[in-house]
Amino acid sequence: MEKNYPELAREAMNRRTFITAASASAAFAAAASMAGVALADDADKNADASKPHAEGSLAAANQAAGTANACYPTNDPNLFPPCAAGEGDIAFVAEPIADADIVATYDVDVVVCGLGPAGDAAALSCADHGLKTVAVEKRAIANYCSATLGGTNSKIHKHWGVEFDEAEWLHDAMVDNGFRGNFDLYKRYLECNGEAVDWYVDHLMKAGDKTEDDFPLTFNATGDFPDFRDPADATSLSRSWNTSFNLPFTPADLSALLPQLIEEAGAEVRYECPACQLVTDENGAVTGVIVKSAEGYEKYNCAKGVVLATGGYGFNLEKLQRCCRPRDLALCGWMSPSTGNTGDGHEMAVAIGGIEDEYPHSLMLDPMQLMPYLRVNKLGKRFTPEYEPYNHLACAIQAQPGACDYYIVDGAIADKIDAIWTPSSSCYGPKEVWVGAATSENALKADTLEELAELMGVPADAFVATIEHWNEMCDAGEDSDFHFPGAMMAKIDTPPFYANLEGAEALCTAGGLQVDIHSRVLNADFQPIQGLFAVGLTSGGMFNNTYPHNLNCLSHTRNCTFGYLVGKYLSGDES
Ligand SMILES: Cc1cc2nc3c(=O)[nH]c(=O)nc-3n(C[C@H](O)[C@H](O)[C@H](O)COP(=O)(O)OP(=O)(O)OC[C@H]3O[C@@H](n4cnc5c(N)ncnc54)[C@H](O)[C@@H]3O)c2cc1C
Repeated sequence: MEKNYPELAREAMNRRTFITAASASAAFAAAASMAGVALADDADKNADASKPHAEGSLAAANQAAGTANACYPTNDPNLFPPCAAGEGDIAFVAEPIADADIVATYDVDVVVCGLGPAGDAAALSCADHGLKTVAVEKRAIANYCSATLGGTNSKIHKHWGVEFDEAEWLHDAMVDNGFRGNFDLYKRYLECNGEAVDWYVDHLMKAGDKTEDDFPLTFNATGDFPDFRDPADATSLSRSWNTSFNLPFTPADLSALLPQLIEEAGAEVRYECPACQLVTDENGAVTGVIVKSAEGYEKYNCAKGVVLATGGYGFNLEKLQRCCRPRDLALCGWMSPSTGNTGDGHEMAVAIGGIEDEYPHSLMLDPMQLMPYLRVNKLGKRFTPEYEPYNHLACAIQAQPGACDYYIVDGAIADKIDAIWTPSSSCYGPKEVWVGAATSENALKADTLEELAELMGVPADAFVATIEHWNEMCDAGEDSDFHFPGAMMAKIDTPPFYANLEGAEALCTAGGLQVDIHSRVLNADFQPIQGLFAVGLTSGGMFNNTYPHNLNCLSHTRNCTFGYLVGKYLSGDES
């Protein structure tokens, strides 16, 4: 069964790299460890640098884990050590692979490297367009994390009668990107996502004998807001666009189904066969790729091109530290299950002159708690209007001392949650789940605010003043500090009181290779490298500054759109 977000979050929390093995067995231990480390001002006095995960030795842990050596310095001694999703096996080979080591050579049109949603779409499109295509995947299975798709003008959106103002959508995208996003890529996305998504959905409809009715809009899917047809959820600060719809398959189904469709379309799929190195001619054009099978290195000569779709690099701590800020890596966990994501595609391209997005790269982030509960930082103060989209809230949390905060509820939250229950929150799970997460045995719990502050390790006077001020604003029906909607405000006045420590969680990395609108990888002169293409998280240009969750399901839809387009382009059909 597909796991819901809190389950994944809890698992991710238990996987956190900075928790000692002894304390990692329960999320409460994790939270207590996090609180003790992050919020106790004197904790570093007894730091033991030889034990990076020893209790209360955060600065030492940072040092031992290499924060001090990262490219980007931090002035916050309370940051957690940088955290990767795990340690994956890097397939990229930097040293030239000798001809004598090649055990087999093949001539094809295209090799697609990596079978996640982007590689799936690229390989399927290449095969659909009649190209002799091979898709190679590092692991024994393809990757699919979430059974959703989106866009702004597909037949599914028309079917449900929801329309989008694309100029407004584009404006939000530019703001989210801090105006550093590649405008051409966004425009291409807007022009083509309808055609690409329709093509993809047609494949899925045919494979599963489905109709448009089987693809509900994500905001409507759980039943609490079945008739919500607005283009955006107005109860979220900055628009949370109603662009995502659910696919009638589980992610596990899709990771099996897509390779099957690719093979039925005439392409070959090879598992446990990672791409390791690109082959170039004397002009620097890419002419093929070397993969590693159980037999040894095999070379593909590619008449049309090599498509890099190896995903991000969450399982490569060295690259994470090289390309991202320490503050962004001060995470409480990762949600990515794809151990193959070590940045092979990025490194293969860079090795032959490709360029990545400017550093530091951003991550796709969520806060641990998706409900807009009241938040305070380690100073006991509110710091953000809690109803902003998840990426914005996660960034606000990360900007706090120690890159973490507490979210606060009271003993009557089960009755009060109705006030903040919105389409964009309901789609991530029923109310009981969010109440349960806030009041679970993992939470700090006390009968008075003063006692709770002591458990949290925050200044009691500041914390109590924050809550009293909040309650006064609730009575007045207006948040004069951050303009949280008055109708959604609920007092914190019913003991027991609960506090949960939270940080940001990463789903995946969001920085990639710079590409043009045909997904051609660019060199340092911003010219396309002949024969080399990148799609999905291996490609860049669209997720600078932050990954825009509020443009719902943009990542999957970008995967689909540019995967589809690269097949068209390589076949010579550029229309
Ligand atoms: C829990 C979770 C939920 C998410 N939910 C959403 C959502 O609702 N909507 C959304 O838009 N996005 C969502 N995302 C993000 C989404 O998963 C990514 O956008 C997507 O997986 C990226 O696709 P990709 O094909 O670029 O990379 P991946 O899915 O990571 O696929 C890359 C593949 O390449 C393989 N590979 C790596 N190196 C090599 C190599 N050298 N040779 C061959 N193969 C290689 C990997 O093993 C992997 O299978 C979610 C992510 C997570 C973790």
